[in-house]
Amino acid sequence: MNVRVGIGYDIHRLVEGRQLRLGGVLIPFELGLLGHSDADVLLHAISDAVLGAASLGDIGQHFPDTDAQFKDANSLDLLRTVASLVWERGWRVLNVDSVVIAEVPKLAPYVGDMSNNIAGALRCENGCVGVKATTNEGMGVVGSRRAIAAYAVVLLGR
Ligand code: MG
Repeated sequence: MNVRVGIGYDIHRLVEGRQLRLGGVLIPFELGLLGHSDADVLLHAISDAVLGAASLGDIGQHFPDTDAQFKDANSLDLLRTVASLVWERGWRVLNVDSVVIAEVPKLAPYVGDMSNNIAGALRCENGCVGVKATTNEGMGVVGSRRAIAAYAVVLLGR
């Protein structure tokens, strides 16, 4: 089997007056992520990892933040589109691993739903998506609750 690995990273500012959506899960919290789309930082990191593994560029090229079409876009829809692009080229997602770095809120109750949403969008088998949450131990922009970041790696096979 031919396999390809991809990496993705993203970070968004945590601000008032926005909903917090991570891994396609709406999380009750007084702050949310700032962005042109729904700013789902985890799905953006995973989208970039999938695109990167297939040498298809990045989400900024496919869904420009200057395009009104993507204003408040649901990032699960963007991830489904990304999955279709790689499927068309014969690639299947073998597995994903990811880390969300957030000082607040506590994400453990939501990681199962995030993982299911992502596996559904990527059409991969149950258990193919790892989602982990950690803090930045109070350091830097994430530690001072001004941002949430995410990393992802993806393995494609065909
Ligand atoms: Mg982003």
